[in-house]
Amino acid sequence: MEKIKMTTPLVEMDGDEMTRILWSDIKELLLVPYIDLKTVYFDLGLPERERTRDQVTVDAAEATRQYGVAVKCATITPNAQRVEEYKLSQMWKSPNGTIRAILDGTVFRAPIMVRGISPVVKNWKKPITIARHAFGDVYKNTEYKVPGPGKAELVFTPEGGESIRQTIYDFQGPGVLQGQFNTAASISSFARSCFQFALDTKQDLWFATKDTISKQYDHTFKDIFQDIYGAEYDRAFRKAGIEYFYTLIDDAVARVIRSEGGFIWACKNYDGDVMSDMVSTAFGSLAMMTSVLVSPDGKYEYEAAHGTVTRHYYQYLEGKETSTNPIATLFAWTGALRKRGELDKIPALMDFADDLEAAAIAVIEGGAMTKDLAGLWEGEIPAVAVTSRQFLEAIRVELERRL
Ligand code: NAP
Ligand code: MG
Repeated sequence: MEKIKMTTPLVEMDGDEMTRILWSDIKELLLVPYIDLKTVYFDLGLPERERTRDQVTVDAAEATRQYGVAVKCATITPNAQRVEEYKLSQMWKSPNGTIRAILDGTVFRAPIMVRGISPVVKNWKKPITIARHAFGDVYKNTEYKVPGPGKAELVFTPEGGESIRQTIYDFQGPGVLQGQFNTAASISSFARSCFQFALDTKQDLWFATKDTISKQYDHTFKDIFQDIYGAEYDRAFRKAGIEYFYTLIDDAVARVIRSEGGFIWACKNYDGDVMSDMVSTAFGSLAMMTSVLVSPDGKYEYEAAHGTVTRHYYQYLEGKETSTNPIATLFAWTGALRKRGELDKIPALMDFADDLEAAAIAVIEGGAMTKDLAGLWEGEIPAVAVTSRQFLEAIRVELERRL
């Protein structure tokens, strides 16, 4: 078979630990034999971030702006222990944070569903994608522990203008106080990324806040979404046969649980933090969760939602075979290849991505899977737990059968 040709390269961001091992195995076994793989390679592994003083992360993000589609391996976000372990000169920032700041994007997380592993919520038939607004609110708050009686005020001083003061509370005793903010620019970017992604994936978009209680703050989110929808997306949504739906967060939670799935749920920062953990746990496994960063101007960065699986990596370093699940990392690749195929009009690349995903799912549904999934398996045939390498080889056999 002739290898599939690519016209524009993917931006490839290599990473750390166990996922770095899976990364190279996936390329060797499932991609390079079938695709004339073109990538612009950036090594975001921690040693290279240290050597380049993290410039490599910035370069990779800039390249994503230039080429439009990236695929990223999980990376270590350094903490004190990592500074010691890798002899770092600084506690480098989270690469995901750096890339997100440069692309100004929103992260969409979606579960990969297979027959035999059922969601805890029994009526969920299709994936629920969570979009989290990752800017501002409680994550950038200013807090104060009120020691005793006194007056708390909200003061805003416009540039070149008079201050506006409002009383928050007249404290009679000790308490707590918190200031939060967001910006119209960030909320607008978030809204556009969500509308864009809904169109891309042909799924309804749900958005919810507590606007009945928060009549200025949350209501502004609602208004910005509605204005952008009306001005820029209404027509395209109707043409695509999808819907934008706003409701109160309490109502959304109830509807999500009763739903069949198959939509995107846009969440404010805190709601997204909490709900994405709940939804991913209810779907089964973090190892079956993909993640894509979408910028408001339509640049894409695909990755797995999980980390570098450190515990397995230490076993690997001891020479032990591990049974680490490569599915989310594989689907990051197929997502990026499919998007590249779509943008460059290469149907063979899109078909290949579909075939590879179908092959991977077929292997699991046929009973062969990594340990994490074997523990969740409810299929009729017994599950066989295999090593990562055996699993990838089984996917290759299944892929060959389909090509
Ligand atoms: P993790 O790598 O997601 O792993 C946590 C545990 O979840 C693992 O020990 C394993 O459980 C299970 N797990 C996760 N992915 C799995 C897979 N593909 N197959 C099988 N089991 C899987 O999280 P972590 O250990 O908290 O973090 C490790 C490193 O990853 C940290 O340095 C962190 O900074 C980084 N991280 C990076 C990203 C990213 O790049 N997007 C995201 C999160 C964390 P068992 O041990 O029970 O088998
Ligand atoms: Mg969380």
